[in-house]
Amino acid sequence: MIITDSYSRIFKTLRVSLTNTCNLACTYCVNENADYKQVSKFENQILKTENLLEIIIKLHKILQFKTIRLTGGEPTLYKNIVPLIQQLSSLDVKIKLTTNGFLLKNLIDKLNINELDSINVSLDAMDEDIFFRISKRRSLYKILEGIEAAKSKNIHVKLNAVILKNINSSQILPLLEYSFSKNISIRFLELMKMGHIKDGNFDNFFSQKDILKVIKSKYEFKKILREDAATANYWQTKSGNTFGIIANESEPFCADCNRLRLDSSGNIFGCLSSNTPLDISQIYENDYLLEEKLNLAMAQKQVLKFTGSNLSMLEIGG
Ligand code: SAM
Repeated sequence: MIITDSYSRIFKTLRVSLTNTCNLACTYCVNENADYKQVSKFENQILKTENLLEIIIKLHKILQFKTIRLTGGEPTLYKNIVPLIQQLSSLDVKIKLTTNGFLLKNLIDKLNINELDSINVSLDAMDEDIFFRISKRRSLYKILEGIEAAKSKNIHVKLNAVILKNINSSQILPLLEYSFSKNISIRFLELMKMGHIKDGNFDNFFSQKDILKVIKSKYEFKKILREDAATANYWQTKSGNTFGIIANESEPFCADCNRLRLDSSGNIFGCLSSNTPLDISQIYENDYLLEEKLNLAMAQKQVLKFTGSNLSMLEIGG
């Protein structure tokens, strides 16, 4: 079965959202002014882990992923994450995790080396008050502990930091210095128009150009070639340290996007811009029907740029 489109795009990365709940409440994900509790629009029938695993294995059999990334919401809140990772690690594919790091140390203690290929930890500030302003939790030390725990097991760690003007833009250099000192690669993310910020206030947007200007005040650097289907642009400093920027707004990377998303109810999405879930939970064993849904998911992909989403990353899976 070959799923592709007129731009020759294929699915090579599967992002699995294990839950739509999170133990942080970052301002860009959760609307702190809303008078309702954010609830999932789709994940009302959470699959048993064995069914979720069956779906992942089936998709992998057809699409031969290079990477399966576990994300959410906060994936470390998923009760069966340890057995799930154990089972997935037997597949011939890189298993990666994206986490806020709050519960990472607990998880690392339970995993065997080699089960996870790499971990992306989201860390928006090195200053406790600024971290609190964004995440509404005083948990910076726990995240740094989680990073150390992963490194002590030789798991490859990368950092992701969403940069918001006048909120944590002062943290670009401290985050960079921390990552250089720990020999960890860091990517700065431009804010994306998702969920409650889609049509609202985007005043905090801090562009790739703005980020580079801040870094230039301290470091000299040169651009490195972007790999196919990579989400980030990368630069290298004179002393050999690298950093990346995911410039979703200023330099969209839809043209060679290879990502497919699956949530824990068995809905697939071909694009972050799409609000239409394609439910495969009841049909994944039927190749004909599955092919149809995968083609629909491929057709959801944008050609030029991300056009915004009514769903926050929390809901569709980061
Ligand atoms: N809870 C995990 C975490 O914090 O890494 C995984 C899910 S989280 C939604 C994945 C990533 O999406 C995080 O790095 C987060 O900062 C980023 N993110 C969420 N909403 C965003 C937005 N509107 N624009 C840019 N990045 C966003």
